[in-house]
Amino acid sequence: MDPVYKALVEIAGEGHVSNRPEELHTYSRDLGTSEPHRPDYVVAPRTTEQVQEVVKLANRERIPVVPLGGGLSLAGLAVPLRGGIALDMKRMDTILEVNEKARYAVIEAGVSQGKLISYLHRHHPDLRHSEPQAPTPATIAGNIAIHGQGDLAQPYGFNSDMVNGLEVVLPTGEACKIGSCAVSPGWFTLHPLPDLGLFLGWFGTTGIITKLSLRLFPLKRIREVEQFVVEDPGLVPEVIYKVTHTEMAEDVFAGTQSTIPARVGLHHVTVYITADSEKELEFKTGLIWDDALGEYIRSGDGGFADLLPPMKARFAARPGMLLSTVCDTLQGGGFEYVGGIMPVETYPQCCQRGAEIYSKHGIPQLMIARVIGRAHAMMFAWAYPFNRGDAESVNKAREAVHETDDLALDLGGTIWKPGVYGQKKLMERMDPGTLQLMRRVKELLDPNGIMNPGNWEVA
Ligand SMILES: Cc1cc2nc3c(=O)[nH]c(=O)nc-3n(C[C@H](O)[C@H](O)[C@H](O)COP(=O)(O)OP(=O)(O)OC[C@H]3O[C@@H](n4cnc5c(N)ncnc54)[C@H](O)[C@@H]3O)c2cc1C
Repeated sequence: MDPVYKALVEIAGEGHVSNRPEELHTYSRDLGTSEPHRPDYVVAPRTTEQVQEVVKLANRERIPVVPLGGGLSLAGLAVPLRGGIALDMKRMDTILEVNEKARYAVIEAGVSQGKLISYLHRHHPDLRHSEPQAPTPATIAGNIAIHGQGDLAQPYGFNSDMVNGLEVVLPTGEACKIGSCAVSPGWFTLHPLPDLGLFLGWFGTTGIITKLSLRLFPLKRIREVEQFVVEDPGLVPEVIYKVTHTEMAEDVFAGTQSTIPARVGLHHVTVYITADSEKELEFKTGLIWDDALGEYIRSGDGGFADLLPPMKARFAARPGMLLSTVCDTLQGGGFEYVGGIMPVETYPQCCQRGAEIYSKHGIPQLMIARVIGRAHAMMFAWAYPFNRGDAESVNKAREAVHETDDLALDLGGTIWKPGVYGQKKLMERMDPGTLQLMRRVKELLDPNGIMNPGNWEVA
């Protein structure tokens, strides 16, 4: 028997290791445009100790290790570019603690968005976390490992800003804790110990997150959604500024699309307002509609979209579901989007220059921006559905993705969860001192270069 396979079985147990072609095929690809690459083994550990043993084995044998959660990050980030071991974290899915008063949850790294949502719904109905629009099997750890953003991005920032602590297995197999959990049983804060922020945004190239503490927030009883419509994209940054100034909105999106004829040429600013009572809702709504947006209505520059009740109910139940509703418009299951983390004022150029890329490649246009922080930035998503069964459709989408990576950088933004092409472009433009520091961190933590190689490879 293959000695590596045998060693993996000894670590994780029969039934949790595979080298069967059909499983290797499944782990060789994601929904996006990246080329597939097969792992040599798949292993699904159950404990931190098992993760440590797998990593030590990989070091001895000099085999790559690629951690993955849902494998839904779309840019090939969990595709094993150099083969090796696909380390599927989904069996580590215990919710270890919810501290209701301090509003945080301590979870294992394989806990999915869906599992945390339903657990909180059943046991802590007043609490929620910042859910991304991603399909619910996506994991919380995978999301913070790529600096994801969810429904509470507007008030609180990136989901990775909502991390209170981490347990990490280093690329050489040692485990360590980051945050208050390093000195106390409480996982309530990441600060004020020296900053060891070496694991978020690194796509698993500096270690494997095995546990984490995530901030929870009040779940308000009423959720209202309205869409404010303008024709001039130049007004959108101003509208966002005015809406966020009220501090009354829970989430704010802006976008435009060509897939629904009635929406072509229009820019929708979608505003979510939450409240615990009708009185609170009325107060918040009044401030946004009258104080922030009234002048556009009076001048005829903007107005409210007539959201039909079923559509409104769907939007309200699952905020920000815009991307998921259109990701298969071309059918054939292919979908990727470039997320540019952009200055809000670039919205008009993002739309105009993005439209040129859509039109060049004949892809239906869908651009959505999620406001992050009090408009400190926006995640501008240029979404590209494609048909995975049609090589031309895949190529067009891939080219569009690369051109959009370039566009995000040209407009002064940065690329969120970049694939290998985008990573390369970012590193080409990066401050040399930063690049040098990244190289040192990587060499120090992962001397044998086994962790998700091919990503953030600093030449
Ligand atoms: C329709 C659609 C809508 C989406 N909307 C959003 C959205 O609104 N917001 C958003 O943020 N994302 C969104 N996404 C992107 C993505 O699905 C999510 O970010 C998702 O949460 C990623 O989690 P995952 O478990 O699938 O990560 P994976 O793809 O499994 O992993 C992502 C990266 O993290 C690494 N990794 C995974 N687990 C670990 C670990 N335990 N330790 C260290 N590294 C690890 C992997 O190696 C990989 O590099 C969307 C995707 C789709 C398809």
